[in-house]
Amino acid sequence: MNYISTRGAGIGERHTFSDILLGGLAKDGGLYLPNEYPKVSADELARWRALPYADLAFEILRKFSDDIPDEDLRELTRRTYTAQVYCNVRDEENAAQITPLKTLGVEGGTPLSLLELSNGPTLAFKDMAMQLLGNLFEYTLAKHGQTLNILGATSGDTGSAAEYAMRGKKGIRVFMLSPHKKMSAFQTAQMYSLQDPNIFNIAIEGVFDDCQDIVKAVSNDHAFKAQQKIGTVNSINWARVVAQVVYYFKGYFAATKSNDERVSFTVPSGNFGNVCAGHIARMMGLPVEKLVVATNENDVLDEFFRTGIYRVRKSSETYHTSSPSMDISKASNFERFVFDLLGRDPKRVLQLFRDVEEKGGFDLQASGDFARVEEFGFVSGRSSHDDRVDTIRDVFEQYDTMIDTHTADGVKVAREHLQAGIPMIVLETAQPIKFGETIREALEREPERPAAFSGIEDLPQRFEVLANDAERVKEFVAERTR
Ligand SMILES: *Cc1c(COP(=O)(O)O)cnc(C)c1O
Repeated sequence: MNYISTRGAGIGERHTFSDILLGGLAKDGGLYLPNEYPKVSADELARWRALPYADLAFEILRKFSDDIPDEDLRELTRRTYTAQVYCNVRDEENAAQITPLKTLGVEGGTPLSLLELSNGPTLAFKDMAMQLLGNLFEYTLAKHGQTLNILGATSGDTGSAAEYAMRGKKGIRVFMLSPHKKMSAFQTAQMYSLQDPNIFNIAIEGVFDDCQDIVKAVSNDHAFKAQQKIGTVNSINWARVVAQVVYYFKGYFAATKSNDERVSFTVPSGNFGNVCAGHIARMMGLPVEKLVVATNENDVLDEFFRTGIYRVRKSSETYHTSSPSMDISKASNFERFVFDLLGRDPKRVLQLFRDVEEKGGFDLQASGDFARVEEFGFVSGRSSHDDRVDTIRDVFEQYDTMIDTHTADGVKVAREHLQAGIPMIVLETAQPIKFGETIREALEREPERPAAFSGIEDLPQRFEVLANDAERVKEFVAERTR
C-alpha cells in the first residue's frame, strides 16, 4: 500500500503507512490517501460478520498498513479494543461489542438505530480512533528509537481524547492548551484530573482561538518544532480516519442478517473525518445506500451537498452552538472526498483548494462533477438548537433513551432521509453528560452519568496557567523536554 497526496506530491515516491503516521499534511499542503482503496471480497465480508471488534479492526487495518507485521498489528488492535476500555455502556452485557447497536424503533418503514461510539474513556467517538493512535504511536516510536511531543489546542473533546490515549505511553508527552476557565466543570475535570507525568494541561489566559493561534505560532517556528520533536494529532491524521472505517462494518453487520442487504448511515459532522471513513468503507465495497451528512447551524457541508458550492466561513461567522464539536468554519478532511469526486485529479484539487485560500471557496455546480455526488451516496441536512432540544425530548419520550446534542442533530437529519426497507444507523458521537446544559433545557432533569464519572469534579486537578503568549509556551515545553 502506497500513499499519495491529494495535491499530487508523492506520486512515483514510496510512502508507507508508518511513514505518514506521525506526520500531518503532505509537503504540498495536501492530505494523504492510499493510491487505491483495497476492495473487500464477498468471501471476506461473509467471514468478517462473526468477528469480534478487535479482530475486525485487524482485518481492515492490515489492508492499509502492510508495513506493520501481522502479529504486531493483531496485538495492537486486541490491546486497544477491549471491554475494559469501552466500559461506559448503558447495558453491561453489551460491553464486549465495543460499539453496540441500539434500535430505537421503526420509522418510515425501517428500523432507526444508534451506533454507540461513545463508550470509551472520554465519552465521545474520538476515543475510537485516538486510543488506537496512542498504541500505534508508541509502537512506531519505539521501533525507530524516537520520541514525540504532541502540542494541541482544545475546547473539549479532541484534547481529552488525545490525553486519555497518550497517558503513560513511552516516548510521548502531550502539551494541551485550553482556555482558562472557559470549559464546563465536567470537561475541565476530565482533562485536569489526569495525574500522568507525561500529560501537561496548560490553561491559557484567553479564549480557544488564542490557544489555536499559539499552536500555529509554535508550529511555524520550524527550528523549535524540529528540535523539540513537536507533532500533532489533529483530525486530518490518516490513521485516525482509517481506524473509524471499522465501526461502519461493525454497524452494518449488527443491523443486517445477510450481506445482500443495504443500510444507510447518518453522521453528525464537523471536520468531515467521521463521514470520510464511511465513504472509504463504501469504496471498499460495504453495501451502503446513503451517507447522510448532518450539520448544525454551521452548515458549510450541508450547503455543499445541496448546491455544489463550497464556501468556507470566517471565524467571525462561525456560530457557537449547543453541539460545539461541530462548530467549524471549514471541513479539514473534505479535500479527501473532493479528490475522489473529481476522479482523483490532483491538479484540479490543487486549483480548487487554492481557490479556497484565495477566494474563500469553489463552485462545482456547473462543472458536472457535482452530479456524481449521488453516485457516492451523499445527501445532507442541517439542524438548529430548537431542533436539538425537540429531538432530545422526543427520543427520550418515545424511546426512553437520552441522547446528546450532536447525536440529536444526527437523528433530526436522519429522519429526513429514511427509505423503507433500508435500515438507518445514526452514529452516536457523544454521551449526554458532556452537554448537560441542553439536556436540562430539553428534559428538565440531569443527564445520565456513567458510574466511573461520579464525583469527577471533586478530584485533585493538575494544570498550569500561562499567559496568552507563544514564547512563554515554548519555554514551558523546552523546560520539560530537556
Ligand atoms: C468531533 C466530533 C464530531 C464531528 O466529527 P468530524 O469527524 O469532525 O466530522 C461530532 N460529534 C462529536 C461529539 C465530536 O466530538
